[in-house]
Amino acid sequence: MILRLTKGVSARISQHFRSTEFDCRCKRPECKLTLVSSVLLLGLEQLRGRAGALSVDSGFRCEAHNKEVGGVADSYHCRGLAADIRAGKLLPFSIASVAESILCFEKGGIGIYRAFVHLDVRGYKARWGSQTAC
Ligand SMILES: [Zn+2]
Repeated sequence: MILRLTKGVSARISQHFRSTEFDCRCKRPECKLTLVSSVLLLGLEQLRGRAGALSVDSGFRCEAHNKEVGGVADSYHCRGLAADIRAGKLLPFSIASVAESILCFEKGGIGIYRAFVHLDVRGYKARWGSQTAC
């Protein structure tokens, strides 16, 4: 299920997350909707249980904002299926390895970046970025 939420209106959408954390970060007046997958939320709650508090760098993105930040065309962010996250002092590859133990991410996308991890629930396995410590 994809939750359809009003951007800027903070609603609790799971035990530890509020809708505004997933709002598109652009300032366009026409950008009024936030989409968040309930499966993504479930996965993030499970991850939180194992990795501690999470912060969302980027959740939903409107098409214009996705282009602006250099997101790939048809990004899962534009469908509410993806989030770029950080977890306290854990390094991105550590967060990614915890995410591997959570079913919807194991069968989804995990991308490791310098400062955050991209997670999505696309329904099939995809991996990119550095998978090991260096
Ligand atoms: Zn936007």
